[in-house]
Amino acid sequence: MQVWKFGGTSVGKPDRMQSIRNLVTADKSRKIVVLSALSGTTNSLLAIGESLKANDIDGASQQIDTLYDHYQVFIKALYKTSAGLAQGQEIIDKEFGFIRSLSGISPFTLKQEKELVAEGEILSTQMFSAYLEEEGDSVVLIPALDFMSIDADNEPEFAAIEEKLKQQLIPQEDKLIVVTQGFICRNPRGEVDNLKRGGSDYTASLIGGAISAEEIQIWTDIDGMHNNDPRIVKRTFPVREMTFEEAAELAYFGAKILHPSTITPAKMRGVPVRLKNTMEPSAPGTVITASQSTNAEIKAIAAKDNITAIYIHSTRMLNAYGFLRKVFDVFEKFKTPVDMITTSEVSVAVTIDNSEHLESITKMLSQFADLEEHDRNQTIICIVGNFLADKSGIAIRILEALRNIPIRMISYGASEHNISILVDSRHKNEALEALNEGLFDFGNK
Ligand code: ADP
Ligand code: ASP
Ligand code: MG
Repeated sequence: MQVWKFGGTSVGKPDRMQSIRNLVTADKSRKIVVLSALSGTTNSLLAIGESLKANDIDGASQQIDTLYDHYQVFIKALYKTSAGLAQGQEIIDKEFGFIRSLSGISPFTLKQEKELVAEGEILSTQMFSAYLEEEGDSVVLIPALDFMSIDADNEPEFAAIEEKLKQQLIPQEDKLIVVTQGFICRNPRGEVDNLKRGGSDYTASLIGGAISAEEIQIWTDIDGMHNNDPRIVKRTFPVREMTFEEAAELAYFGAKILHPSTITPAKMRGVPVRLKNTMEPSAPGTVITASQSTNAEIKAIAAKDNITAIYIHSTRMLNAYGFLRKVFDVFEKFKTPVDMITTSEVSVAVTIDNSEHLESITKMLSQFADLEEHDRNQTIICIVGNFLADKSGIAIRILEALRNIPIRMISYGASEHNISILVDSRHKNEALEALNEGLFDFGNK
């Protein structure tokens, strides 16, 4: 069985939803189809939540009306029969009834916000399943809230998900298309929660891992993973093959095409991940597996923003063993992951992207170290490829490309696949463009 995930733009217009029905029903193989909310909906729901938090009930009500109108137009174009349209109408009326009911709850808490934002996927999957039913396809909708769960650290409970999903699938063995929601899940309190923005990719991979799928396909609006961020850099091109490690690094370090954690469950179960373009279904896209046939030295570049660099000096100066342990204990205590680290004999520089506990971290570090002023608004640029230790010349090419850009930190040598550079975010676009021109050969692209 395969798992196919369609993102917001892939389901964002009635004719797109119709084309993805053609895609998923083209061959008669069984699939689990994971859908995101229609493009723009999650943002609109979050904006409605902001109005409700600010107690602006009229503002929220207007925003809800505008979103409802959008869905009204959508279903009129999607369904072809009056019975289909009646079904679509029932779905949107029921869900918007729930959305409106949230306006009456005061105070509007995080719990309600999570319920509100989940409505995007709840709407899109019901509308899509009803459309397939209208077309006479063999389809069933299984609610993600019945099997997808996270623990107190917001980590998916993989074993429980696997078990519950299998139970959900047993009675549906005769159905060709099993539809479910991306993004949404339950937390340990049993409340509605989610896997963070862009989380539908992660859902698809968790499902693909749980059922040891033949393949996980992530369908989006671009022809695979590009060698650099196409929103910023002019001349980018799709990379046809990648290893799990390479894709995981790129996703973690900011390649928006994949949620940062997507690769983990797929890699754990060795399930290939294929990135495909809904607008151009015959394009090869990118395939991500345990190994690859091409051995390109430099594969791709990604960038992660909102990074804070913390500079820590040992007060005991030279030969102070145990210092690093004390430093990392502090980050562990505040459950704050460290991304980059560089050290000299007496100093350590680390970067974090979650600065929620920065003040407490700083306070605790100050008990045994001298701290310099942090640098906020930094960007990690991550260069991914095959940097075998005995090959020379890669570092010089990178630094040469960045000759006009001030570099705050460099991390090289921890893995054969990643070189990370920290720059002030003001220089990010220029740095990505310079690396693109300096590191890739455009001769045959
Ligand atoms: P979806 O709604 O289908 O999940 P996303 O917007 O989350 O789609 O991801 C696809 C977008 O990711 C592309 O349109 C592209 O602008 C952006 N993107 C950023 N970096 C990359 C990259 N390295 N390769 C491909 N796309 C990228
Ligand atoms: N709808 C959610 C979001 O916009 C999840 C997703 O699209 O992957 O973040
Ligand atoms: Mg996405």
